[in-house]
Amino acid sequence: MSKLNQPLSGNQMPRFAGPGTLFRLPPQGTAQGLDVCFIGVGLDIGTSNRTGARFGPRQIRQESALIRPYSMATGAAPFDSFQIADIGDIALNTFNLAASLDTITQHYKDILKHTVKPFALGGDHTITLPILRAIAGKYGPVAMVHVDAHTDTNDTMFGEKITHGTIFRRSIEEGLIAPAKMVQIGVRGTGYNKDDFDWSRQQGVRVVQAEECWYKSLEPLMTEVRQQIGADTPTYISFDIDGLDPSAAPGTGTPEPGGLTSTQALEIIRGCYGLNIIGGDLVEVSPPYDTSGNTALLAANLLFEMLCSLPGCTRQH
Ligand code: MN
Ligand code: MN
Repeated sequence: MSKLNQPLSGNQMPRFAGPGTLFRLPPQGTAQGLDVCFIGVGLDIGTSNRTGARFGPRQIRQESALIRPYSMATGAAPFDSFQIADIGDIALNTFNLAASLDTITQHYKDILKHTVKPFALGGDHTITLPILRAIAGKYGPVAMVHVDAHTDTNDTMFGEKITHGTIFRRSIEEGLIAPAKMVQIGVRGTGYNKDDFDWSRQQGVRVVQAEECWYKSLEPLMTEVRQQIGADTPTYISFDIDGLDPSAAPGTGTPEPGGLTSTQALEIIRGCYGLNIIGGDLVEVSPPYDTSGNTALLAANLLFEMLCSLPGCTRQH
């Protein structure tokens, strides 16, 4: 028997009962001794339209109760490969965005004193900026696989420099990301200006609009992405659930028609296998708009797939 933490099986405790941790893993207070940790970052005061992402971590954990330990498609066995735990939530100040950002960075700096790969359950996309400040402090500028309906590269929104729609401009300006090793997949919809996606391209980012993805497998794209980034570069996955079509992920704050399918989302995350993934996040799940629970269920599955794509994840065949 493995000494690694295992999800509590549905054959030991019904899936509608038992612990409320992600994947029903044993809870743990710190990242000590872990290879991978999950952190709830339920911030939603950086969002521009619908709120509710503060409830994302709790709902993703709830829907994750259905996830079993092995991928039937890839044979990946993350819980036989890594010591993984849910280390709980960050105590945000929901009355103060700036203070919350500093709290997130400090919390991540403490986590990153350990040799652990952190994955965040959002929360709106604003959380990625303070997370990257800590990540880049450890690794330097990282490569970035960013899935989203939006580039999140506005200069300001309503005059504010830090919102969920400005974070990737700030991250590139602050040198947290290597833009030549960044790809943004799924962007679409209406813009403030017709050149809204150009700023990313001017920095050297590869921008893949949703229309380029329609009706296609994204496996060839991910082969190109792996070549663009290379196998050794520390790489972060930032997955905004609104990258998916609202038919697949309605529970989000700024939905845009014509998005990626859940199949394509799986192809993107599975296509990250072979990259040096050092962390990631799954953001913008807003449970009040997720009447079926499908958005949070999909989010939980995508987080499982991120585990399966970590370097060193064993595969059973
Ligand atoms: Mn976003
Ligand atoms: Mn978005």
